[in-house]
Amino acid sequence: MLSLSVGFGGRASVVSLTTMRRPYTFIIDIDKKGPRMLTEVHVPDDVAAAVRLLESGATPLGGGTSLMPLLNDYASPPTELVSLRRAGLAGIHLDGATVRIGAATTLGQVEHDPRLAILDPVVRSIASVPVRNLATVGGNLFAHQPHGDLAVALVALAARVTVVDGGTHELTVEEFVTDPRGLVTEVAFTQPADGSFKYLKAARRRFNSASIVTVAAVIGESAVRVALGGVGNQIIRAHAVEAALAGQPLTDETVPAAAEAGLSELAPVDDAYASAWYRTRVFPVHLRRALLGH
Ligand SMILES: Cc1cc2nc3c(=O)[nH]c(=O)nc-3n(C[C@H](O)[C@H](O)[C@H](O)COP(=O)(O)OP(=O)(O)OC[C@H]3O[C@@H](n4cnc5c(N)ncnc54)[C@H](O)[C@@H]3O)c2cc1C
Repeated sequence: MLSLSVGFGGRASVVSLTTMRRPYTFIIDIDKKGPRMLTEVHVPDDVAAAVRLLESGATPLGGGTSLMPLLNDYASPPTELVSLRRAGLAGIHLDGATVRIGAATTLGQVEHDPRLAILDPVVRSIASVPVRNLATVGGNLFAHQPHGDLAVALVALAARVTVVDGGTHELTVEEFVTDPRGLVTEVAFTQPADGSFKYLKAARRRFNSASIVTVAAVIGESAVRVALGGVGNQIIRAHAVEAALAGQPLTDETVPAAAEAGLSELAPVDDAYASAWYRTRVFPVHLRRALLGH
């Protein structure tokens, strides 16, 4: 059996379709000019042109790995996209210990650059090769948790981001991800000392699986900087863990105690990948494995 009903409420039209198996509901955004849909993809040659298009209301497009699937579901999809592919925003530059990565650089390019070996475990934990060959560094800063694993690592690395949003600003990635907006042009960080950056992601499968818990940390001489993914609606800077470990050696006693202290900062949710309960149980284990290696 197949039945179809259409109702109009305000601007949106609700179309209900019932088949033998299950009901489907579609929301189609129709205004006086007809249904909203994607009509144009601009491909500017430079940042200035991209900014002009964005100021006129278009939406930035990185690799499209998050945005394009959403276009099908939006009640009110963007009508114009600005592809950043040719805007001169891709590239990896090292100046001494300072690393600068253009926003349109793909995760695949990061993965294959031997100068960025410390980010290898991070990018290899994200999605799969085809997705990484499209997905960009800038786009990952906009990913909703439990995605955004590179962003978690960048928070631990105290990375900074350059954003064009009514002028050019530089702010920390940690600040930026709380309210991402504007055109991201670049991220930058200082390479940590050899062996001091730690990263571990718990996921259900090797490929295309969002985080259950992501731990990224930089171990300094007397302080540890820790960022967490998968255990809240936003990336968490684990201040309680850091405070518990400040000035302490990392041992089988201090790290579990720090994890215990960090539990109060988690705000995990249930989703298709794991329950909040499970995420809370996995966190101390992964913090220990990330910081102590066992
Ligand atoms: C199957 C699958 C598995 C995935 N698994 C993981 C995973 O394990 N871990 C993980 O971290 N992520 C995962 N993701 C998400 C993916 O990594 C992110 O979607 C990707 O980094 C986003 O980059 P993009 O260039 O494709 O962004 P797009 O999809 O192009 O854009 C995403 C958002 O960012 C905005 N945007 C993009 N670039 C810029 C910019 N330079 N300035 C301003 N705004 C910008 C867009 O307007 C949009 O709002 C997965 C995605 C898929 C499809």
